[in-house]
Amino acid sequence: MISGKSEVYACRRSRVLERLGDGAVLVLPAAPELVMGRDTELRYRPDPDLYYLTGYPEPDAVLVLAPSNEAAPYTLFVRPRDPELELWTGVRGGPEAAVSVYGADEAYPLYELEERLAGIVAGADVVYFPFGEVSGPVAELVHRVLADSRKRRQRTGRGPRYQADPGVILDEMRLFKDAHELALLSEAARITAESFMDAASAIRPGAGEWEVEAALEAGFRRRGAEGVAFPSIVGSGVNATVLHYIENSRTMEAGDLLLIDAGARYGMYNGDISRTFPVSGRFSPAQRELYDVVLTAHDRAIEASRPGATIADVHGAAVRSLVEALIGLGLLSGGVDEVIEKQEYRRYYPHQTSHWLGLDVHDVGDYAADDGASRRLEAGMVFTIEPGLYIPADDERAPAELLGLGIRIEDDVVITETGCEILTAAIPATAEAMEELTRGSA
Ligand code: ZN
Repeated sequence: MISGKSEVYACRRSRVLERLGDGAVLVLPAAPELVMGRDTELRYRPDPDLYYLTGYPEPDAVLVLAPSNEAAPYTLFVRPRDPELELWTGVRGGPEAAVSVYGADEAYPLYELEERLAGIVAGADVVYFPFGEVSGPVAELVHRVLADSRKRRQRTGRGPRYQADPGVILDEMRLFKDAHELALLSEAARITAESFMDAASAIRPGAGEWEVEAALEAGFRRRGAEGVAFPSIVGSGVNATVLHYIENSRTMEAGDLLLIDAGARYGMYNGDISRTFPVSGRFSPAQRELYDVVLTAHDRAIEASRPGATIADVHGAAVRSLVEALIGLGLLSGGVDEVIEKQEYRRYYPHQTSHWLGLDVHDVGDYAADDGASRRLEAGMVFTIEPGLYIPADDERAPAELLGLGIRIEDDVVITETGCEILTAAIPATAEAMEELTRGSA
Protein backbone atom coordinates (compact mmCIF):
# COMPACT_ATOMS: atom_id res chain seq x y z
CA MET A 1 0.00 0.00 0.00
CA ILE A 2 2.74 2.45 0.98
CA SER A 3 4.90 1.52 -2.01
CA GLY A 4 2.04 2.05 -4.44
CA LYS A 5 1.43 5.43 -2.90
CA SER A 6 5.11 6.37 -2.96
CA GLU A 7 5.14 5.79 -6.70
CA VAL A 8 2.38 8.34 -7.09
CA TYR A 9 4.38 10.95 -5.18
CA ALA A 10 7.66 10.00 -6.91
CA CYS A 11 6.00 10.49 -10.27
CA ARG A 12 4.76 13.96 -9.28
CA ARG A 13 8.22 14.91 -7.95
CA SER A 14 9.94 13.87 -11.15
CA ARG A 15 7.59 16.10 -13.15
CA VAL A 16 8.42 19.03 -10.85
CA LEU A 17 12.17 18.33 -11.05
CA GLU A 18 11.92 18.40 -14.81
CA ARG A 19 10.03 21.69 -14.79
CA LEU A 20 12.47 23.30 -12.34
CA GLY A 21 15.52 22.71 -14.50
CA ASP A 22 19.12 22.93 -13.34
CA GLY A 23 19.31 26.47 -12.03
CA ALA A 24 16.36 26.22 -9.65
CA VAL A 25 15.56 24.87 -6.20
CA LEU A 26 12.11 24.35 -4.69
CA VAL A 27 11.71 24.82 -0.93
CA LEU A 28 8.34 24.00 0.67
CA PRO A 29 7.81 24.32 4.41
CA ALA A 30 5.08 22.35 6.21
CA ALA A 31 2.02 24.13 7.55
CA PRO A 32 2.45 25.24 11.17
CA GLU A 33 0.52 23.43 13.89
CA LEU A 34 -2.56 25.32 14.97
CA VAL A 35 -3.22 25.84 18.65
CA MET A 36 -6.60 26.54 20.23
CA GLY A 37 -6.52 28.75 23.31
CA ARG A 38 -3.28 28.49 25.25
CA ASP A 39 -1.82 25.10 24.36
CA THR A 40 -4.42 22.75 22.89
CA GLU A 41 -3.24 21.46 19.53
CA LEU A 42 -5.81 21.06 16.79
CA ARG A 43 -5.71 17.96 14.60
CA TYR A 44 -2.85 18.58 12.17
CA ARG A 45 -3.52 19.26 8.53
CA PRO A 46 -0.41 19.13 6.31
CA ASP A 47 0.35 21.80 3.74
CA PRO A 48 -1.37 20.66 0.52
CA ASP A 49 1.61 21.33 -1.78
CA LEU A 50 4.07 19.52 0.48
CA TYR A 51 1.65 16.63 0.92
CA TYR A 52 1.00 16.45 -2.83
CA LEU A 53 4.69 15.87 -3.49
CA THR A 54 5.59 13.66 -0.52
CA GLY A 55 2.59 12.27 1.36
CA TYR A 56 4.51 13.42 4.44
CA PRO A 57 2.01 13.88 7.30
CA GLU A 58 4.05 15.36 10.18
CA PRO A 59 4.38 19.05 11.11
CA ASP A 60 7.67 20.98 11.01
CA ALA A 61 9.01 19.46 7.81
CA VAL A 62 10.70 21.14 4.86
CA LEU A 63 10.89 19.67 1.39
CA VAL A 64 13.78 20.62 -0.87
CA LEU A 65 13.90 19.62 -4.53
CA ALA A 66 17.20 20.46 -6.22
CA PRO A 67 17.55 19.01 -9.75
CA SER A 68 21.22 19.94 -10.03
CA ASN A 69 22.03 17.63 -7.12
CA GLU A 70 21.68 14.57 -9.33
CA ALA A 71 22.59 11.99 -6.69
CA ALA A 72 20.05 13.31 -4.18
CA PRO A 73 17.58 15.77 -5.67
CA TYR A 74 14.91 15.08 -3.00
CA THR A 75 15.72 16.07 0.58
CA LEU A 76 13.40 16.18 3.60
CA PHE A 77 14.14 18.00 6.82
CA VAL A 78 11.94 16.62 9.58
CA ARG A 79 11.35 16.57 13.31
CA PRO A 80 13.92 14.34 14.96
CA ARG A 81 12.78 11.44 17.14
CA ASP A 82 12.10 12.51 20.74
CA PRO A 83 10.85 9.72 23.02
CA GLU A 84 9.74 12.12 25.75
CA LEU A 85 7.63 14.32 23.47
CA GLU A 86 6.37 11.34 21.49
CA LEU A 87 4.70 10.16 24.70
CA TRP A 88 2.43 13.22 24.47
CA THR A 89 1.91 13.77 20.76
CA GLY A 90 2.58 10.42 19.10
CA VAL A 91 5.38 8.68 17.31
CA ARG A 92 7.61 10.66 14.98
CA GLY A 93 9.20 8.94 12.04
CA GLY A 94 12.34 11.05 12.13
CA PRO A 95 14.83 11.22 9.24
CA GLU A 96 14.93 7.43 9.01
CA ALA A 97 11.26 7.09 8.06
CA ALA A 98 11.55 10.11 5.77
CA VAL A 99 13.88 7.95 3.69
CA SER A 100 12.43 4.47 4.17
CA VAL A 101 8.70 5.34 4.04
CA TYR A 102 8.56 8.65 2.17
CA GLY A 103 11.33 7.92 -0.31
CA ALA A 104 13.61 10.90 0.38
CA ASP A 105 17.09 10.58 -1.15
CA GLU A 106 18.42 12.24 1.97
CA ALA A 107 16.77 13.30 5.23
CA TYR A 108 18.03 15.33 8.15
CA PRO A 109 16.72 16.59 11.45
CA LEU A 110 15.20 20.02 11.17
CA TYR A 111 17.94 21.61 13.29
CA GLU A 112 20.39 21.00 10.43
CA LEU A 113 18.23 22.93 7.97
CA GLU A 114 19.94 26.30 8.29
CA GLU A 115 23.41 24.97 7.63
CA ARG A 116 22.51 22.50 4.88
CA LEU A 117 19.96 24.64 3.05
CA ALA A 118 22.54 27.42 2.69
CA GLY A 119 24.74 24.97 0.77
CA ILE A 120 21.88 23.75 -1.42
CA VAL A 121 20.62 27.18 -2.49
CA ALA A 122 24.13 28.63 -2.94
CA GLY A 123 24.33 27.23 -6.46
CA ALA A 124 20.82 28.18 -7.57
CA ASP A 125 19.70 31.20 -9.56
CA VAL A 126 16.03 30.80 -8.72
CA VAL A 127 14.43 29.65 -5.50
CA TYR A 128 10.81 28.57 -5.67
CA PHE A 129 9.36 29.44 -2.28
CA PRO A 130 5.79 30.51 -1.44
CA PHE A 131 5.23 34.27 -1.25
CA GLY A 132 3.89 35.73 1.96
CA GLU A 133 1.37 33.03 2.78
CA VAL A 134 3.68 30.89 4.95
CA SER A 135 4.45 31.78 8.53
CA GLY A 136 5.90 30.17 11.63
CA PRO A 137 9.43 29.42 12.81
CA VAL A 138 10.32 27.06 9.96
CA ALA A 139 9.31 29.57 7.30
CA GLU A 140 11.27 32.28 9.10
CA LEU A 141 14.33 30.06 9.09
CA VAL A 142 14.05 29.51 5.36
CA HIS A 143 13.63 33.25 4.80
CA ARG A 144 16.81 33.89 6.80
CA VAL A 145 18.82 31.38 4.76
CA LEU A 146 17.59 32.92 1.52
CA ALA A 147 18.41 36.44 2.67
CA ASP A 148 21.93 35.35 3.73
CA SER A 149 22.69 33.57 0.48
CA ARG A 150 21.52 36.59 -1.45
CA LYS A 151 24.00 38.72 0.46
CA ARG A 152 26.84 36.25 -0.12
CA ARG A 153 26.27 36.41 -3.84
CA GLN A 154 27.85 39.83 -3.92
CA ARG A 155 31.28 38.35 -3.09
CA THR A 156 31.00 34.82 -4.45
CA GLY A 157 29.05 35.45 -7.64
CA ARG A 158 26.86 32.47 -6.75
CA GLY A 159 23.50 32.44 -5.07
CA PRO A 160 19.82 32.95 -5.75
CA ARG A 161 18.75 36.05 -7.66
CA TYR A 162 15.08 35.34 -8.15
CA GLN A 163 12.27 34.06 -5.98
CA ALA A 164 9.52 32.32 -7.91
CA ASP A 165 6.02 31.20 -6.99
CA PRO A 166 5.84 27.38 -6.65
CA GLY A 167 2.24 27.75 -7.82
CA VAL A 168 3.50 28.37 -11.36
CA ILE A 169 4.32 24.65 -11.44
CA LEU A 170 2.18 23.13 -8.70
CA ASP A 171 -1.15 24.93 -9.21
CA GLU A 172 -1.28 23.72 -12.79
CA MET A 173 -0.36 20.16 -11.84
CA ARG A 174 -2.90 20.05 -9.01
CA LEU A 175 -5.65 21.36 -11.30
CA PHE A 176 -5.54 18.09 -13.26
CA LYS A 177 -6.35 15.22 -10.93
CA ASP A 178 -4.54 11.92 -11.41
CA ALA A 179 -6.15 8.52 -10.79
CA HIS A 180 -4.99 8.42 -7.17
CA GLU A 181 -6.59 11.80 -6.48
CA LEU A 182 -9.80 10.96 -8.34
CA ALA A 183 -10.22 7.84 -6.22
CA LEU A 184 -9.89 9.88 -3.00
CA LEU A 185 -12.16 12.67 -4.29
CA SER A 186 -14.81 10.09 -5.26
CA GLU A 187 -14.64 8.60 -1.80
CA ALA A 188 -14.89 12.03 -0.11
CA ALA A 189 -17.89 12.77 -2.34
CA ARG A 190 -19.58 9.43 -1.59
CA ILE A 191 -19.08 9.82 2.16
CA THR A 192 -20.48 13.35 2.01
CA ALA A 193 -23.49 12.27 -0.06
CA GLU A 194 -24.37 9.32 2.16
CA SER A 195 -24.01 11.41 5.32
CA PHE A 196 -26.48 13.94 3.88
CA MET A 197 -29.05 11.12 4.08
CA ASP A 198 -28.28 10.78 7.80
CA ALA A 199 -28.65 14.53 8.18
CA ALA A 200 -31.99 14.52 6.35
CA SER A 201 -33.40 11.99 8.79
CA ALA A 202 -32.72 14.42 11.69
CA ILE A 203 -34.75 17.22 10.05
CA ARG A 204 -38.15 17.93 11.64
CA PRO A 205 -40.00 20.92 13.08
CA GLY A 206 -38.82 21.52 16.65
CA ALA A 207 -35.37 20.00 16.15
CA GLY A 208 -32.24 22.16 16.34
CA GLU A 209 -29.98 22.91 13.41
CA TRP A 210 -27.20 21.53 15.65
CA GLU A 211 -28.89 18.11 15.72
CA VAL A 212 -28.74 17.96 11.94
CA GLU A 213 -25.08 19.06 12.06
CA ALA A 214 -24.36 16.29 14.60
CA ALA A 215 -26.02 13.61 12.44
CA LEU A 216 -24.17 14.82 9.36
CA GLU A 217 -20.73 14.96 10.94
CA ALA A 218 -21.25 11.66 12.78
CA GLY A 219 -21.90 10.22 9.33
CA PHE A 220 -18.61 11.64 8.06
CA ARG A 221 -16.58 10.12 10.88
CA ARG A 222 -18.45 6.80 10.93
CA ARG A 223 -17.62 6.37 7.25
CA GLY A 224 -13.93 6.96 7.87
CA ALA A 225 -13.53 10.63 6.98
CA GLU A 226 -10.93 12.66 8.90
CA GLY A 227 -13.56 15.27 9.62
CA VAL A 228 -15.12 18.23 7.90
CA ALA A 229 -13.71 19.96 4.84
CA PHE A 230 -14.93 23.30 6.32
CA PRO A 231 -17.36 24.29 9.10
CA SER A 232 -20.73 22.81 8.15
CA ILE A 233 -23.43 25.28 7.16
CA VAL A 234 -26.84 24.17 8.49
CA GLY A 235 -29.18 27.15 8.06
CA SER A 236 -32.96 27.09 8.42
CA GLY A 237 -35.46 29.83 7.66
CA VAL A 238 -33.81 33.15 6.98
CA ASN A 239 -30.41 31.68 8.00
CA ALA A 240 -30.43 29.94 4.61
CA THR A 241 -29.90 33.35 2.99
CA VAL A 242 -26.68 33.93 4.98
CA LEU A 243 -24.02 32.44 2.71
CA HIS A 244 -21.53 31.53 5.45
CA TYR A 245 -23.88 30.85 8.37
CA ILE A 246 -22.11 28.39 10.71
CA GLU A 247 -23.66 29.03 14.14
CA ASN A 248 -26.23 26.28 13.49
CA SER A 249 -28.07 27.33 16.64
CA ARG A 250 -31.69 27.86 15.57
CA THR A 251 -34.67 25.60 16.18
CA MET A 252 -36.35 24.63 12.91
CA GLU A 253 -40.01 25.44 12.38
CA ALA A 254 -42.70 23.87 10.23
CA GLY A 255 -42.71 25.52 6.82
CA ASP A 256 -38.99 26.42 6.89
CA LEU A 257 -36.45 25.43 4.30
CA LEU A 258 -33.15 24.03 5.62
CA LEU A 259 -30.01 24.62 3.58
CA ILE A 260 -27.05 22.35 4.30
CA ASP A 261 -23.65 23.05 2.69
CA ALA A 262 -20.96 20.71 3.97
CA GLY A 263 -18.23 18.30 3.00
CA ALA A 264 -16.22 15.44 4.41
CA ARG A 265 -12.43 15.32 4.18
CA TYR A 266 -11.08 11.90 3.28
CA GLY A 267 -7.42 11.07 2.62
CA MET A 268 -6.83 14.85 2.66
CA TYR A 269 -9.31 15.39 -0.22
CA ASN A 270 -12.57 17.28 0.13
CA GLY A 271 -16.22 16.74 -0.71
CA ASP A 272 -18.58 19.72 -1.00
CA ILE A 273 -22.36 19.33 -1.30
CA SER A 274 -25.35 21.63 -0.78
CA ARG A 275 -28.95 20.49 -0.54
CA THR A 276 -32.09 22.33 0.54
CA PHE A 277 -34.81 20.41 2.39
CA PRO A 278 -38.39 21.30 3.37
CA VAL A 279 -38.45 20.99 7.18
CA SER A 280 -42.05 19.69 7.24
CA GLY A 281 -41.38 17.15 4.50
CA ARG A 282 -43.24 19.03 1.78
CA PHE A 283 -42.40 22.21 -0.15
CA SER A 284 -45.10 24.90 -0.30
CA PRO A 285 -46.07 25.68 -3.94
CA ALA A 286 -43.99 28.89 -3.87
CA GLN A 287 -40.98 27.11 -2.35
CA ARG A 288 -41.31 24.33 -4.89
CA GLU A 289 -41.41 26.79 -7.78
CA LEU A 290 -38.23 28.50 -6.58
CA TYR A 291 -36.55 25.14 -5.89
CA ASP A 292 -37.18 24.00 -9.45
CA VAL A 293 -35.75 27.26 -10.78
CA VAL A 294 -32.46 26.52 -8.97
CA LEU A 295 -32.54 22.86 -9.99
CA THR A 296 -32.94 23.82 -13.65
CA ALA A 297 -29.96 26.21 -13.38
CA HIS A 298 -27.98 23.38 -11.74
CA ASP A 299 -28.87 20.99 -14.58
CA ARG A 300 -28.00 23.58 -17.25
CA ALA A 301 -24.61 24.19 -15.62
CA ILE A 302 -23.89 20.45 -15.55
CA GLU A 303 -24.85 20.17 -19.24
CA ALA A 304 -22.38 22.99 -19.98
CA SER A 305 -19.55 21.16 -18.18
CA ARG A 306 -17.59 19.43 -20.92
CA PRO A 307 -14.14 19.60 -22.47
CA GLY A 308 -13.64 22.70 -24.60
CA ALA A 309 -16.26 24.78 -22.79
CA THR A 310 -14.96 27.39 -20.36
CA ILE A 311 -15.57 27.66 -16.64
CA ALA A 312 -17.31 30.97 -17.49
CA ASP A 313 -19.68 29.05 -19.82
CA VAL A 314 -20.73 26.93 -16.83
CA HIS A 315 -21.47 30.02 -14.73
CA GLY A 316 -23.12 31.69 -17.73
CA ALA A 317 -25.47 28.74 -18.25
CA ALA A 318 -26.59 28.88 -14.61
CA VAL A 319 -26.99 32.66 -14.62
CA ARG A 320 -29.01 32.74 -17.85
CA SER A 321 -31.33 30.06 -16.57
CA LEU A 322 -31.84 31.87 -13.24
CA VAL A 323 -32.36 35.25 -14.90
CA GLU A 324 -35.01 33.92 -17.30
CA ALA A 325 -36.91 32.48 -14.37
CA LEU A 326 -36.51 35.57 -12.16
CA ILE A 327 -37.91 37.76 -14.94
CA GLY A 328 -40.81 35.31 -15.28
CA LEU A 329 -41.46 35.54 -11.55
CA GLY A 330 -41.42 39.35 -11.69
CA LEU A 331 -38.38 39.71 -9.43
CA LEU A 332 -36.32 41.20 -12.24
CA SER A 333 -37.51 43.19 -15.23
CA GLY A 334 -36.13 43.92 -18.70
CA GLY A 335 -34.52 41.72 -21.29
CA VAL A 336 -32.46 38.68 -20.29
CA ASP A 337 -29.26 39.96 -21.90
CA GLU A 338 -29.67 43.39 -20.37
CA VAL A 339 -30.16 41.99 -16.86
CA ILE A 340 -27.09 39.77 -17.30
CA GLU A 341 -25.06 42.65 -18.70
CA LYS A 342 -25.92 44.89 -15.74
CA GLN A 343 -25.51 41.97 -13.31
CA GLU A 344 -28.84 42.85 -11.70
CA TYR A 345 -29.30 39.19 -10.79
CA ARG A 346 -26.58 39.59 -8.17
CA ARG A 347 -29.22 40.83 -5.73
CA TYR A 348 -30.50 37.23 -5.63
CA TYR A 349 -27.46 35.28 -6.82
CA PRO A 350 -24.31 37.05 -5.59
CA HIS A 351 -21.73 34.24 -5.86
CA GLN A 352 -19.95 32.24 -8.54
CA THR A 353 -21.30 28.87 -9.70
CA SER A 354 -18.05 26.92 -9.37
CA HIS A 355 -14.74 26.55 -7.62
CA TRP A 356 -11.99 24.00 -8.17
CA LEU A 357 -12.02 21.18 -5.61
CA GLY A 358 -9.17 18.97 -4.39
CA LEU A 359 -6.68 19.02 -1.53
CA ASP A 360 -8.10 22.48 -0.82
CA VAL A 361 -11.85 23.06 -0.77
CA HIS A 362 -11.30 26.16 -2.89
CA ASP A 363 -8.52 24.44 -4.76
CA VAL A 364 -5.58 26.04 -6.54
CA GLY A 365 -5.52 26.67 -10.28
CA ASP A 366 -6.21 29.73 -12.40
CA TYR A 367 -9.77 30.44 -13.54
CA ALA A 368 -8.41 32.59 -16.36
CA ALA A 369 -5.83 31.78 -19.01
CA ASP A 370 -2.73 33.94 -19.50
CA ASP A 371 -4.58 36.18 -21.96
CA GLY A 372 -7.27 36.83 -19.35
CA ALA A 373 -9.89 34.70 -21.11
CA SER A 374 -11.82 32.15 -19.06
CA ARG A 375 -10.17 28.78 -18.59
CA ARG A 376 -11.08 25.98 -21.00
CA LEU A 377 -12.20 22.80 -19.30
CA GLU A 378 -10.13 19.65 -19.82
CA ALA A 379 -10.45 16.06 -18.63
CA GLY A 380 -9.36 15.61 -15.03
CA MET A 381 -10.49 19.00 -13.73
CA VAL A 382 -12.73 18.72 -10.66
CA PHE A 383 -15.04 21.52 -9.54
CA THR A 384 -18.33 22.29 -7.85
CA ILE A 385 -21.57 23.37 -9.46
CA GLU A 386 -23.62 25.32 -6.94
CA PRO A 387 -26.24 27.75 -8.17
CA GLY A 388 -28.55 29.26 -5.58
CA LEU A 389 -31.18 31.90 -4.99
CA TYR A 390 -31.47 34.02 -1.86
CA ILE A 391 -34.48 36.29 -1.47
CA PRO A 392 -33.80 38.97 1.15
CA ALA A 393 -36.45 39.08 3.90
CA ASP A 394 -37.04 42.78 3.11
CA ASP A 395 -37.11 42.43 -0.67
CA GLU A 396 -39.52 44.90 -2.24
CA ARG A 397 -40.28 43.01 -5.43
CA ALA A 398 -40.75 39.46 -4.21
CA PRO A 399 -44.16 38.18 -3.13
CA ALA A 400 -44.54 37.54 0.61
CA GLU A 401 -44.30 33.76 0.29
CA LEU A 402 -40.80 34.01 -1.22
CA LEU A 403 -39.31 36.44 1.32
CA GLY A 404 -36.38 35.10 3.32
CA LEU A 405 -35.99 31.90 1.28
CA GLY A 406 -32.52 30.56 0.53
CA ILE A 407 -31.93 27.62 -1.82
CA ARG A 408 -28.65 26.15 -3.06
CA ILE A 409 -28.03 22.87 -4.87
CA GLU A 410 -24.39 21.81 -5.18
CA ASP A 411 -22.66 18.81 -6.70
CA ASP A 412 -19.03 17.97 -7.44
CA VAL A 413 -18.07 17.01 -11.00
CA VAL A 414 -15.02 15.79 -12.87
CA ILE A 415 -14.54 16.64 -16.54
CA THR A 416 -14.19 13.49 -18.66
CA GLU A 417 -13.19 13.00 -22.31
CA THR A 418 -16.80 13.47 -23.42
CA GLY A 419 -18.59 15.50 -20.74
CA CYS A 420 -18.58 15.27 -17.00
CA GLU A 421 -19.23 12.75 -14.27
CA ILE A 422 -21.07 13.74 -11.09
CA LEU A 423 -19.01 12.50 -8.14
CA THR A 424 -21.80 13.25 -5.66
CA ALA A 425 -24.52 11.35 -7.51
CA ALA A 426 -25.20 9.16 -4.46
CA ILE A 427 -27.61 11.85 -3.24
CA PRO A 428 -30.41 12.88 -5.59
CA ALA A 429 -31.33 16.51 -6.12
CA THR A 430 -34.98 16.61 -7.19
CA ALA A 431 -37.65 18.29 -5.07
CA GLU A 432 -39.47 14.97 -4.65
CA ALA A 433 -36.28 13.32 -3.39
CA MET A 434 -35.70 16.12 -0.87
CA GLU A 435 -39.28 15.67 0.42
CA GLU A 436 -38.89 11.91 0.67
CA LEU A 437 -35.55 12.06 2.45
CA THR A 438 -36.93 14.51 5.00
CA ARG A 439 -40.13 12.53 5.56
CA GLY A 440 -38.06 9.41 6.20
CA SER A 441 -37.66 10.85 9.70
CA ALA A 442 -41.36 11.13 10.61
ZN1 ZN B 1 -18.65 24.82 -2.60
